[in-house]
Parts: sequence; C-alpha cells; structure tokens
Amino acid sequence: MIVTRFAPSPTGLLHLGHAFAAITAYQAGDDFLLRIEDIDASRSRETFIEAIFLDLKWLGLSWDEPVMRQSRRLDAYRAALDQLSQQGVTYPCFCTRADIAREIARAGDAPHAGDDAQVYPGTCRALSANVRQARIAAGEAYAIRLDVQKALALTGPLTFLEQGQPRDADPAPGGDVVIARKDMPTSYHLSVVVDDAAQNVTLVTRGEDLLAATPVQRLLQALLGLPEPQYAHHRLVLDRDGRKFSKRDTTITLKALRDMGKTPADIRARIAV
Ligand code: GLU
Repeated sequence: MIVTRFAPSPTGLLHLGHAFAAITAYQAGDDFLLRIEDIDASRSRETFIEAIFLDLKWLGLSWDEPVMRQSRRLDAYRAALDQLSQQGVTYPCFCTRADIAREIARAGDAPHAGDDAQVYPGTCRALSANVRQARIAAGEAYAIRLDVQKALALTGPLTFLEQGQPRDADPAPGGDVVIARKDMPTSYHLSVVVDDAAQNVTLVTRGEDLLAATPVQRLLQALLGLPEPQYAHHRLVLDRDGRKFSKRDTTITLKALRDMGKTPADIRARIAV
C-alpha cells in the first residue's frame, strides 16, 4: 500500500503550486495524509490552517484523520534529538545569521546549497567542550547542528530511491544543517523525517525545489533507524512569467480564484493534473 502526504506550512493561503502538490500526492497514494508543518510559531496562523482544510476539500481531496500538527509533537522531536546527541553527531551552534555571513565573506567564498540557503562554514564545530559549556552556562542562545561528516562516518554512503531509481544521497554539499533551532527543539529536516516515519509514509511526493533536502533527510533516517520512504519530486507550477509562485502573490491563491468564480475543474486544467 502506498501512503503519501501533503505537508503545507500554514504561513499563507494555498496557491496553484500547493494545489498541484496536494493533488499529485493524492493521486499517487492509496492512502493520503495531511500534515500541518506549523513549527514556525511566528509565521503560522490558525486561520491559514482552516483555509487549508477548506481549499483541499473544495478541490475534492479527503484524508485520514486526525491531521498531524507538528506544533503538538515537540516531545517526539526532543526524543529524536536526544538519540542523535547520544550518537555524538550534533553540536551547539551559537552563530547568528550575521556571524555566518561574516565568516563566509572572510573565507572569500560563498558555498551555496541552492535556494538561497548559505552552507554553514562550520564555525562552532571546532569549539572545545569547555567553551561550549561556558557559553551555554552564560545563557547564550544556540541551535543544534548535525555534524554531517561524523554522521556519515557512522552510516557509510547512502542512497535513496527517486521515482524508483537509486541515487547517491550525499549530504556533504549542504553542510552541517540545523536540526534544532534556537527557539525550538526541532527544525524542518528533523520534523519531516520523524513525522514521515510516524505516519508510515512510504512515498514522499514534493516539489523539486526540495530535492536538495533529501540527502540529509536520508542521513537522519539512517541515524535514527527509521524506515526509508521512496521519493518522487515533481515539477513546480510556474506563474505566467516563469517564476515560482510565492505566498506573497495573493492574486493566485485558491481562495482568490474561487471568489473569482473558478471551479476545481478550472484549477486542475490550469495546472494540468
Ligand atoms: N512544509 C514544506 C513546505 O511547505 C514541505 C515539506 C516536505 O514536503 O518535505 O514547503
């Protein structure tokens, strides 16, 4: 049985790109789940969650209840984080965004993980245990990062299945990602991996902009001893100028299109699913 999911962040109204992602997941699965990725408390809104339910129902989708909400799963993320820290593959990172930008500028190059994500230059990886303890004791805020090289030394080389074809899962180019933010015992990567396993998702369908996130997520699955889902990254729906839809563009939200008199059939025709 193929279990798929749609996992929106409730930080805006759904647009045509989301409709494509949701319908793609729905059509690919025997069982279709919905997960609300609301760990970003400053940007997530209850009204957007209600709007997600409404828009998806309007499109004709249905899903298994209860809907998983990440903001209610912090204990599960803490447990995964503990498991990783016991394996010695994590470290506290005290850097601010400005520190990271400065360090990259100083080193004279700007490695890029794609999609504007700067690769972390590893500044805090080298701190001694004493310095770490002193800074934590002094109350400095810190995130937790995954030491990717140490982690790979434990797991060995990994692969993942993309549309049934094996691909190398090399997370090294993405650097030491954050697995717990300064204000949260988790991050996007950790939550997705823990939740896909908890929901028994067997096929992850999502936009190709997240293909670059898959190697490190595969690494986390291997470290945590979680099952390995298959992947099918899909094309992105572009606007008429060939750009990715943005949550800031309110003219193409499903709500706006519905209010304009468009039908679910019009939406499907527009995005060709
Ligand atoms: N929550 C993510 C987003 O809205 C999707 C996560 C995923 O599919 O892995 O882009």
